Amino acid sequence: MNHERSKKLYARAKKVIPGGVNSPVRAFKNVGIAPVFADHGKGSQITDADQNTYTDYICSWGPLIFGHGSDIYYQDVDRALAKGTTFGLATEIEVEMAETLVDAFPSVEQVRMVNSGTEATMSAIRLARGYTGREKFIKFEGCYHGHSDSLLVKSGSGTLTFGEPTSAGVTRGTAKDTLVATYNDLDSVKALFAENKGEIACVIVEPVAGNMGVVPPNPGFLEGLREMTREEGALLIFDEVITGFRVAYGGAQELFGIQPDLTTVGKIIGGGMPVGAFGGPAEIMAMLAPDGPVYQAGTLSGNPIAMHMGLNTLRYLKAHPETYDVVNARAKRLAEGFEANIKATGVKAVVNRCAGMSALFFTDQKVENFSGVMTSDTEVYANYFRKMLDMGNMLPPSQYEGIFVSLAHTEADIEKTIADNRKALEAIAEG
Ligand code: PMP
Repeated sequence: MNHERSKKLYARAKKVIPGGVNSPVRAFKNVGIAPVFADHGKGSQITDADQNTYTDYICSWGPLIFGHGSDIYYQDVDRALAKGTTFGLATEIEVEMAETLVDAFPSVEQVRMVNSGTEATMSAIRLARGYTGREKFIKFEGCYHGHSDSLLVKSGSGTLTFGEPTSAGVTRGTAKDTLVATYNDLDSVKALFAENKGEIACVIVEPVAGNMGVVPPNPGFLEGLREMTREEGALLIFDEVITGFRVAYGGAQELFGIQPDLTTVGKIIGGGMPVGAFGGPAEIMAMLAPDGPVYQAGTLSGNPIAMHMGLNTLRYLKAHPETYDVVNARAKRLAEGFEANIKATGVKAVVNRCAGMSALFFTDQKVENFSGVMTSDTEVYANYFRKMLDMGNMLPPSQYEGIFVSLAHTEADIEKTIADNRKALEAIAEG
């Protein structure tokens, strides 16, 4: 496969963009090749700057549940554009979006729109601190909640890829209030509560971890967090930026039947446009400015075009619940195909999956927390990634990200990827 134009673009980009990219994982550092520059996408396929085509399993890291360029996102967008792209005033469509999110999540009575997942989690934590009057909070090792200072402490995603669990530029003063527990380990949370009695404002968790590969919650883990936070007077925040409208319409809280105090969402709710939101009970949300003392704002928050494309997406999902059956069935077949290939080739690997999210780890250990993830052989993953890319499969260019399947992925796409996976694993087995 020829990547000459991508290489030229990368060289040009490196002069004017740090590392040549606007988000670290796009640099392909972890897979030992120059990054591929995307040109366009349609359905399950993307075409790069050299006109190579791939079946895309990144799906913009989650937003594109209908695949690329679907008419569902764009319906009537011309009309929305003609009305204006931003006003700095309230608009009706923001109310419609808030009503749609409140309808989707029984735990949410009010919601505030923001422009990214990072803003959503940062604001939710500020709100939890303002509401409880406490300063510390708990997050889990390997979970990623965006790049605000207090959340860049032992986080996953791009920071793991680059071996910098704690970013430079985050002060010790900030980091000291972020307590880090082990995913799927309630005792680690209990210990932190015991050591910091009455000081913990909230626990924030990805209800299905999607930034250290994919790690589903063990039975009882989320229930235990719900119980413990209630007992300790702390809020429970579900970061559903990935899982919201993906693992089920009502997110992981619907799938597992647990109501958090605050919920953060992003990705799918913008239909491909930059967006985020956080919400919860009116009593807690009332703490936000302009009515309450917790400040939070945004010039482009509730942007009409993002709301329009997001609502197109959510309305379709609500009207077509079978979308989840199709996406989940395709993801299940993909995971089972990979598992059969692992068995047949004898390569040391495991597949984790929850609904439409999955990950393949090159380890023989069970992967249920960050230490399990770290047993995966990232050199082998890089080799696997390059082989799959050459055969026309765009997998995550990092062991620490998940595979996303969309409604646009056909059975034929999935079967081809399974067959390619077999060839890649056979080559790995042969050394
Ligand atoms: N929370 C989770 C669970 C995420 O996966 C991400 C990004 N992948 C974020 C927050 C941050 O979202 P954004 O990149 O839109 O700032």
